[in-house]
Amino acid sequence: VGLSIDGPYPRNEFRGFPNNVEKTKRYTNQVLKNIEAMCAEGVNPGVIIVLHKANAVGDRLEKLKEFITWLKGVGVKSGKLNPCSVFNPSKRDKIELTSEELTHAWLELAKFTMPDPELQWDPFRAMVKNLRGSHLSDCIFTKCDFWNTEAGRVILGDGSVSCCARAFEIVGTTFIRPGRISFERYDALEQTDCNNCRYWNVCFGGCPGNGRDGDWRNKDKHCASIFAVYKHLETQIKAVDPTAILVTDKEYKDKKGEQLHHSDSAHGDSEHGDGIEHRDSGGHGDIPHGDEVRHEDT
Ligand code: SF4
Ligand code: SF4
Repeated sequence: VGLSIDGPYPRNEFRGFPNNVEKTKRYTNQVLKNIEAMCAEGVNPGVIIVLHKANAVGDRLEKLKEFITWLKGVGVKSGKLNPCSVFNPSKRDKIELTSEELTHAWLELAKFTMPDPELQWDPFRAMVKNLRGSHLSDCIFTKCDFWNTEAGRVILGDGSVSCCARAFEIVGTTFIRPGRISFERYDALEQTDCNNCRYWNVCFGGCPGNGRDGDWRNKDKHCASIFAVYKHLETQIKAVDPTAILVTDKEYKDKKGEQLHHSDSAHGDSEHGDGIEHRDSGGHGDIPHGDEVRHEDT
């Protein structure tokens, strides 16, 4: 079971009902009660928290850490901390984190969660595994073909299969997967914007749905934050074990070869969150958020 909540009200306000604070509070509280009830019955959900200006800046970032601690207390020890992307330009600045804010929030949350071995919060745990050469996860760190999005599929009303909803946002409508996988984006990025990036083999330009300027061919607009977190984690691993060989090391390729890391294929079938195909990569597709905010439940 997976669910999305960005914290107690008002940290969850962007997921609520526009112009209806009381209803938003009531539903948010009910979700929190449901989490407790599920854990009490032994159904511990994975939680997706989307980071935005209501929960990841200033004092609210500290409150978010308290929420993560609360979640652990009731039995939720894993989840995802995904950046919010807003497609509506008139709302973007009010909701979406700046690159500096996201970098700060991610680094703070990495430092907060990673020392606790019981906590398995992504993207940090996934990024450590990626650096160590495990099967790449999650989808944003693979070569995701924008027109097929292997890790995110949506069944349309007529039964046909479409892509991750993030693609809808950019294209402006649903479409049928063509089936022919292609990686032109990655051929281009490797020679242009991501050329010689230290983390190419564990990032590949990030999510095409987050392509800069709304263009899936561009590298992820969260590039600077992804880079900063990889750099932080790489430094931490090396501090603990200076002999560790990571995919960023020349010795890795010399000793193991790229094929063991699957960095050539990035099938895009890696985890898309919590085992559930969230339409709200975002949106579950069953309940419109009604706020024109695209919650990145990757
Ligand atoms: S969120 Fe969607 S578009 Fe982005 S990498 Fe994952 S499957 Fe691909
Ligand atoms: S960190 Fe930035 S430059 Fe490096 S591969 Fe990712 S998107 Fe490209």
